[in-house]
Amino acid sequence: MVRKIGVLTSGGDSPGMNAAIRAVTRVALNNGIEVCGIHDGYRGLLDGSFEMLTRTSVSDSLSRGGTLLGSARLPEFREEEIQNKCIANLKQSGIDALVVIGGDGSYRGALALTKKGINCIGLPGTIDNDIPGTDFTIGFDTALHTCVECVDKLRDTSSSHHRCSIVEVMGNHCGDLALYTAISCGAEMVITPETGYDELEVLEKLRYLADAVRKKHAIVIISEKITDVDALAKKVSQNTGFSGRATVLGHIQRGGSPTPTDRMLASRMGEKAVDLLMEGIGGQCVGIIDNEITSMPIDEALGRPRQNRKRLYRLFDRLI
Ligand code: ATP
Repeated sequence: MVRKIGVLTSGGDSPGMNAAIRAVTRVALNNGIEVCGIHDGYRGLLDGSFEMLTRTSVSDSLSRGGTLLGSARLPEFREEEIQNKCIANLKQSGIDALVVIGGDGSYRGALALTKKGINCIGLPGTIDNDIPGTDFTIGFDTALHTCVECVDKLRDTSSSHHRCSIVEVMGNHCGDLALYTAISCGAEMVITPETGYDELEVLEKLRYLADAVRKKHAIVIISEKITDVDALAKKVSQNTGFSGRATVLGHIQRGGSPTPTDRMLASRMGEKAVDLLMEGIGGQCVGIIDNEITSMPIDEALGRPRQNRKRLYRLFDRLI
């Protein structure tokens, strides 16, 4: 029987993590289970930086971005010796199960602990939507709202100045944030790890939009880590009828009050995590598939291919 659950947030933060911590805390307490918040991800496990959570510890957190527990990366956590120290700290504090909110790296840590006898459940917390085993991650919807708001504003000024705005969004090798932003904002072009990148092709397309279609402006949404967007903007100015401007949205995408969709998702997932631990299940991650909250073994999820977005890319092309 599980008596005390630990909860931690790990990797990059995302809006909605607090809603997940809150859900884990309240659902557990309402089932007579104690909850211990662990600070700064696996770093807090190693340092024994724990804090008992009460109903009121998580009051007023639902609408706040970031994570009230703090997050960090601890590369040494891959080492067995460090994991053993963490297990000893957990046992000493009477924590017999753990909810880990983070990305796929954090999931691997959760799996390692489960194999060593501490049941862990992973919740997908990242704006990148790059975790297999779920249609959406906690924070993606909020980041999408931020991107859409920013691109809408850029469009206003771009059309006044015959500009091509090249907007770099996050995604960590996953094109979802760029693709969803591009469709939601009616962008002229989207460049992601899935579309591939050919600079000459991009310039030719923009020349066509400027000269043949006589567009007043163009918006290009591009995923991070693909190319230097400032250099691309310069080439756009030199080689097309548009004046090219690059905007890197950066960490602004990680912040902000979570949208109701993210609050709902985090609350539902937090509840599921506690239910699984109460059933004595560990080594699983929670997802949302076709709007149903689901769970599957972490190693199975990590071995799955990411969502296929072919139909959405086709939709983007058909909306141009
Ligand atoms: P994000 O998507 O925001 O990058 P993430 O959870 O994937 O989130 P990582 O930096 O990959 O971020 O992992 C977070 C932490 O999880 C690491 O700092 C480390 O402590 C732990 N971790 C990562 N990979 C492993 C692994 N293979 N085994 C054990 N622990 C791991």
